[in-house]
Amino acid sequence: MQPVIVRHKPQPERNFQKTNVAALFVTVELYEILTSDSRHPGYSSERERLMIINIGHSRLELVQGDITRQSVDAIVNAANSQLCGGSGVDGAIHSAGGPSIMADTQKRYPEGCPTGKAVASVAGNLSAKYVLHAVGPVWRGGRDGEPAMLASAYRACMKLAVELQCSSIAFPAISTGVYGYPIDLAAGNSLKTAVDFIKWHKAPSLVRFVLFSEGAFGAFSRALEEIVPQ
Ligand code: ADP
Repeated sequence: MQPVIVRHKPQPERNFQKTNVAALFVTVELYEILTSDSRHPGYSSERERLMIINIGHSRLELVQGDITRQSVDAIVNAANSQLCGGSGVDGAIHSAGGPSIMADTQKRYPEGCPTGKAVASVAGNLSAKYVLHAVGPVWRGGRDGEPAMLASAYRACMKLAVELQCSSIAFPAISTGVYGYPIDLAAGNSLKTAVDFIKWHKAPSLVRFVLFSEGAFGAFSRALEEIVPQ
């Protein structure tokens, strides 16, 4: 059954904001997705959340979910610099997308990909045109260039997406798993980088951050509320 999207109303005054920021029209909408399930016909108590901001003609979304289930032009993988497969997002993408993703990646980039950069491969069985393998930094306390490297990994993906004529892209929270980047710091950095890119390039049309846990969604939604002026 299709999820039903309703407006979320915990703080009515903050649910819908319109702000003119640097000549770009930004709107914020908060939704709660009530997912139907077989045990509870109609609406279940299972709730997923969605936050949307419109920046000019582009849209930035936060959703709680699984990156491998997104239908977008480009799905971003949180890869390691050897591009040799791992756990977390990488494991999920190779498992859902099938062996052609690894075969294509190894053929095209036998030397791997440096930290802060990204490369593109086929998307195998995923509902996307490309997988963009981005290498985020390992967190070493924050004084080893991690913020610049994280921003660079996001920018590299968005640049690649534009070059490959992808109008929609889905990101996981790069570096916040095995690589240990604190989620609150990563959220602010990642979102600012995406918003700045959209403002400058007026593309891609859709940038979706797919957050795996409620905690990650909370961190990103708080960070987004700080970035978008009240
Ligand atoms: P890194 O090595 O860059 O830290 P990880 O894959 O370990 O990458 O984790 C990055 C983030 O992705 C973590 O916040 C993790 O919870 C999340 N994650 C793991 N699996 C998925 C998935 N299937 N979809 C979306 N996010 C996921």
